[in-house]
Amino acid sequence: MSSNLRMLVLPFVLRLFSAPPAAGQEQPIPGFPPIPIDATEEQVRQGVALARAGQKLTPKAWPNGARVAVCLSFDVDNELLWRSAPLPVPLSQGEYGATTGLPRVLDLLDRQSIPASFYLPAMSAALHPQMIQDILQRKRHEIGVHGWMHENLPTVGDAAKEEELLTRSIEYLTKAMGKRPVGFRAPSWAFSQSTLDQIRKAGFLYDSSFMAMDEPYELLANGQNTGMIELPINWIADDYPYYEPEAGGSLPDPQLVFEVYKGEFDVAYQEHAMFILTMHPHITGHRSRIAALEKLIIYMKSKPGVWFATLEQVADYVKTQRERNREVEKQPGTER
Ligand SMILES: [Zn+2]
Repeated sequence: MSSNLRMLVLPFVLRLFSAPPAAGQEQPIPGFPPIPIDATEEQVRQGVALARAGQKLTPKAWPNGARVAVCLSFDVDNELLWRSAPLPVPLSQGEYGATTGLPRVLDLLDRQSIPASFYLPAMSAALHPQMIQDILQRKRHEIGVHGWMHENLPTVGDAAKEEELLTRSIEYLTKAMGKRPVGFRAPSWAFSQSTLDQIRKAGFLYDSSFMAMDEPYELLANGQNTGMIELPINWIADDYPYYEPEAGGSLPDPQLVFEVYKGEFDVAYQEHAMFILTMHPHITGHRSRIAALEKLIIYMKSKPGVWFATLEQVADYVKTQRERNREVEKQPGTER
């Protein structure tokens, strides 16, 4: 994910939730009459209800008794981060992801024999058709949906148009891959009020755009279980804010970024949970950063019981375990 549009998005998101609540919907906290400020309590409640964390889904054990699941993920945004001002030099900064970053990432994953998940906006793939083939050729990686041209979904502002872009994104990747993608990651990790409903209808196995926990969870919409598994991401485990000047990143020493990622992994390992890292080929694909990522992978591999998996593999496993638990709970006399 990447968001050089965060500052642009915020006003739109606020506007989405700024419609006045219907009469009778106000439910002040008992004993505390509302005081008008920049949002009503009801607006906050409506926003919160739209997508909510349900039950934790971390299984009692990972496959083969592993202690932790580790997912390396790459959002292949490339030129599309500069789509709204497509000038030659910034575009070349994104093009680097296709010419150099992605090949370097794929070589690293080959050297270490580990899988990864790649999220491609359809147009990013169309600008460099070889990328999908290069990823699939490894027969180890997953490709998921990441918008049509990395459109910011709240700013699309039209549910029908948004759904058409989603449908086209799925169709494009399905045709290019020969297989329907099962994972969704929203461009810029931004959902409109319609997105969750649309991806649920499209039948995705999992989403990876929310940040409500450090481990897999049920995704709820208006209090109802959507049936979708959330494999959450977080800014702390994303290369963008650390390295990108446009995101306020101060181009820190890759060794410092390595220490942050390592700290996140170490505690995930202690918790028997999950560690998802989000990166971008045009950002992490630079020489010194790839070296730091390789150091991290070697460190994680040195620990016993680390399961390197795609998000699809984790979602599949979590789903199977969830169904098994429900079967057990249904049996008469089962202690709960
Ligand atoms: Zn992105």
